[in-house]
Amino acid sequence: MTDQPSPPHQPDCLFCKIATGDVPATVVRETDTTVAFRDINPQAPTHILVIPRAHYPDAAALSAADPAIAADVLREAGETAAQEGIAETGYRIVFNTGSGAGQTVFHAHAHVLGGRGLQWPPG
Ligand code: 5GP
Repeated sequence: MTDQPSPPHQPDCLFCKIATGDVPATVVRETDTTVAFRDINPQAPTHILVIPRAHYPDAAALSAADPAIAADVLREAGETAAQEGIAETGYRIVFNTGSGAGQTVFHAHAHVLGGRGLQWPPG
């Protein structure tokens, strides 16, 4: 038993299942509040997703409800980039927010992309 309440999970959420280990993923970093794992369809040589363990539908909802965990996600994105060796050459952190912006999984996540030149503006 623990004094800490379990984070809220949605039973049908893919990333909640990755956070609990019920769906396998290639995990590269974990903290009490976050999980970082390789994207199944990488868009760059390094493409990692950083999620809060707790379920929030997108980054805006996460930061409004729990700014400390939002900060954990952002810090872990930077730590992941350093661990993957892309921090020195540059990398991108992306939060697609809403289907019009390309969000397809409605559990907040940061994409960490690097290992090649990245164009601006993105498509
Ligand atoms: P979004 O489009 O919502 O910003 O990003 C969702 C990301 O999740 C996509 O880049 C997609 O490739 C990735 N993804 C979808 N399903 C899985 C999965 O089952 N495992 C992993 N590791 N990544 C996934």
